[in-house]
Amino acid sequence: MGFHEVNSRPSVLWRALGRVALSIAALALLPYAWGPVYRFPDPVPFSGSALWNPYASLNGSWQRANLHAHGRAWAGFTSGSQSDEDVTDRYHRLGYSVAGVSNYQSIAAFDGIDSPPLYEHGFNLGKNHQLAIGAHSVDWFDFPLWQTISNQQYVIDRVRRKADLVSLNHPTSRDAYDLDAMRALTGYNLIEVVNGPFTSEDVWDAALSAGRPVWAVANDDTHDLNDVRRTAVGWNMIDAPSAATSDVVAALGSGRFYAALRTGALDGAGVTTLSSVRVDHGTVRVQLKGAPSTIAFIGQDGTVRETLKDALDAAFTFTPADTYIRTVITSPQTTLYLNPVIRWNGESLPSPLATVNAPWTWTQRGGAMALGCVALLLRFRARRVETPIPAARPVARRA
Ligand SMILES: [Zn+2]
Repeated sequence: MGFHEVNSRPSVLWRALGRVALSIAALALLPYAWGPVYRFPDPVPFSGSALWNPYASLNGSWQRANLHAHGRAWAGFTSGSQSDEDVTDRYHRLGYSVAGVSNYQSIAAFDGIDSPPLYEHGFNLGKNHQLAIGAHSVDWFDFPLWQTISNQQYVIDRVRRKADLVSLNHPTSRDAYDLDAMRALTGYNLIEVVNGPFTSEDVWDAALSAGRPVWAVANDDTHDLNDVRRTAVGWNMIDAPSAATSDVVAALGSGRFYAALRTGALDGAGVTTLSSVRVDHGTVRVQLKGAPSTIAFIGQDGTVRETLKDALDAAFTFTPADTYIRTVITSPQTTLYLNPVIRWNGESLPSPLATVNAPWTWTQRGGAMALGCVALLLRFRARRVETPIPAARPVARRA
């Protein structure tokens, strides 16, 4: 009897632990059973006889903005080493007019923090994170383990429903969004081409080359303001009349800004900034202020079309084969990523939209339900087999 008790306790514990693990696994798989399957519009390069220029009508008042920084949130469970106020104070002191606090699944602005209402969405192993800008509320759905392109699209659509703009954060970290995904996904507005010291231009060119009009943002993604590699390294120069969220969102949504990456010491004088981008009869002319820089024009599939060194202005004339031209400026202290001038019909930019493939979605959901039922049935049967069979008693022999 005593021996039996000692032996059964760990097995009871293991069985309970096993049950918890099974429940967690089942919960983690539930989103995959529910997530719709999408039909993606084909990649179609930009076309048309006219050229669309995001900088055609500038206000001339530039807001310096970081939209991705973490304060202490969720009782320290997520890794911001300072308070939300410390984040906004530091950025304001550094001359930013927009200091975004982008805690995970939590809108700091709703707690009185001087940040636009935004949050970082995502709790998954693949680092598929999105920045919800102009967020109205937090979306709590995610695919925690892996993400198909349909899964990624579903999350984008959900986050977008509760925010003005969606940005794909650090798209190449852990290969979160690969080139195939970028050629397919729709419904988001921005890509974080600069995340702290890291850049990912190829995913942006994949999206642009597939005819997705999306713009590049640069952010620190700092978790610790003492980390010099991630503080005041990536920022956006937004052409907005004020730092009010509505002005910032309008400018971000229409590409009226450019992304900046610090590569040297910023000592005020001589910092290169954009003065204008003009388009006239198929020629794009970029003008800068500050230190002479290398000006590169990049087009379809990320091809460098032309480069000019030691210049404060440069021009590029579209050939019939050019679908978009974006400009990268390498100054002594920064790299600036301008949004592209795009071929269009003169009326509206393309707005490709992935749609839910209902038959496949319901086939998948039906299959998942059937699998779930089979698993429950097997579990039920296994339990019946487990119930102890009473020990046989010696049968009294009749004399
Ligand atoms: Zn992130």
